[in-house]
Amino acid sequence: MIEASCHCGNISLKASKLLDTVTSCNCSNCYRIGALWAYYTADQVVITERVKSNIYLWGNKLRSYHNCTNCGCTTHYTQLRDDGTNRVAINTRMENPELFKAIPIRYFDGAGSFKYITKKIT
Ligand SMILES: [Zn+2]
Repeated sequence: MIEASCHCGNISLKASKLLDTVTSCNCSNCYRIGALWAYYTADQVVITERVKSNIYLWGNKLRSYHNCTNCGCTTHYTQLRDDGTNRVAINTRMENPELFKAIPIRYFDGAGSFKYITKKIT
């Protein structure tokens, strides 16, 4: 069981499995957050909010970025994808860092080509 939570604990997420990779995206929002995303489908994640999260939408408004109204951490985003699946992207920065020492980071060029790239672009 993988557990994530914002700093104050208002928002917590549980997922049943650790993924093989996490994704760093350099789009204007993800870059600021510094998130490392792990992509799940909605049925793989249990989300608990003691206080309802704030939702931030921008650009094409396809992704709902959830952040804590108390501590400000962006814990996850949700997205209805073109293939009909509901994505829940957990910000693995909200998880125990020991879990991610050995997991490769993939770099997504969300600011440019919108493709995975081999090296980080800052
Ligand atoms: Zn919080």
